Amino acid sequence: MSHPNDPALRSFIPVEADSDFPIQNLPYGVFSTAALPTPRVGVAIGDYALDLWELEQDGLLNFDVGPGVFAGRSLNHFMSLGPKVWAQTRARISELLRHDHPELRDNAQLRKLAFVPMKDAKLHLPFAVSGYTDFYASKEHASNVGIMFRGKDNALQPNWLHMPIGYNGRASTVVVSGTRVQRPRGQLKPPNAELPSFGASRRLDFELEMGAVIGQASPMGETLTEAQAEEMIFGFVLLNDWSARDIQQWEYVPLGPFQGKAFATSISPWVVTSAALEPFRRHGPKQDPAPLPYLQQAKANNYDIELEVGLRAASMNTPARICRTNFKYMYWSSLQQLLHHASSGCAMNIGDLLGSGTISGPEKNQRGSLLEISWNGTEPAEIGSGITRTFLEDGDSLVMRGWCQGDGYRVGFGEVEGTIVPAK
Ligand code: MN
Repeated sequence: MSHPNDPALRSFIPVEADSDFPIQNLPYGVFSTAALPTPRVGVAIGDYALDLWELEQDGLLNFDVGPGVFAGRSLNHFMSLGPKVWAQTRARISELLRHDHPELRDNAQLRKLAFVPMKDAKLHLPFAVSGYTDFYASKEHASNVGIMFRGKDNALQPNWLHMPIGYNGRASTVVVSGTRVQRPRGQLKPPNAELPSFGASRRLDFELEMGAVIGQASPMGETLTEAQAEEMIFGFVLLNDWSARDIQQWEYVPLGPFQGKAFATSISPWVVTSAALEPFRRHGPKQDPAPLPYLQQAKANNYDIELEVGLRAASMNTPARICRTNFKYMYWSSLQQLLHHASSGCAMNIGDLLGSGTISGPEKNQRGSLLEISWNGTEPAEIGSGITRTFLEDGDSLVMRGWCQGDGYRVGFGEVEGTIVPAK
């Protein structure tokens, strides 16, 4: 049997070359329909969601793991079964979708039930988020922000090259793409004000990130090896770490971000598995100085994922592209972030979400936040005929897309979209 990543594989479901969801991808999500409002697990293939619960009930997906794995409203149950079952399931779904495999292809009745046109599928948050941690792992992003606030000579803090810097964020406000984001309120103290006031943020921003989805737990008190950490990362989503820069700037000393980040984080609905990303592994930038032994990695743990960000003001029909970059530029890999996270003996849980940190590249058009694009509000960006932005305004819609480009196909993430609504 062919490997599920074989570029030559074809499905009996038609898939365009620029579709995010060819047979080589098979990302997992949770969806419901008007006809059946109970959320269940599916995979994306072309313009369809394939209902895995339906296949399970028909006896096409059974691995001696008990019934109902795909009936739940989250991927957590499936993820808990571990990497062996993930690989078996991926291989089996790939087989069932192949153009030369008759089992599902020739079962017209089951096909009618199991393939839901994507436009009829309501996509839900794909997993129950146990904990959300956000990092700061792009050297270009950290340098840009450092130069803005501390000057060129002190751009990177002394610890930055020695560990992936992170903070514990809020799992309670991680939402799926399409969820409206209300402008947050908080304490504001512009530089010229003597005292802080409480009100709606005036410097609302996005951060282009990838989120690593943790699919296996690690016990409290244990540290991880590279091989163990690798087995724990189920997959990745696109992530927008919405940020209120004015709230953040006043509150962050000395414990780091808090309310400036806590109000919302958006993720894409389809979790692209680490298995599907395997052909797109790349070495990250050379790490100098060499990291401490517990952070050293033998494998290429970065990924070649093309990323772009579009911004659409309420008066515009289509988004203007404001950033085009790549996940491969990250200085610290998601795997190193997981190693570091567990290094103190911190337990990791199924459903933990690790935000990569803002992804910026070396070029000016590769900046992954408005803070950098508008250089802290001093260089407004033109996004359409006469429309400029320094930060996000009410009614603005922010869209992130990502994909790995294969030879004649792409392994894509779909999109994560969020529209800003006025503060309460
Ligand atoms: Mn962030």
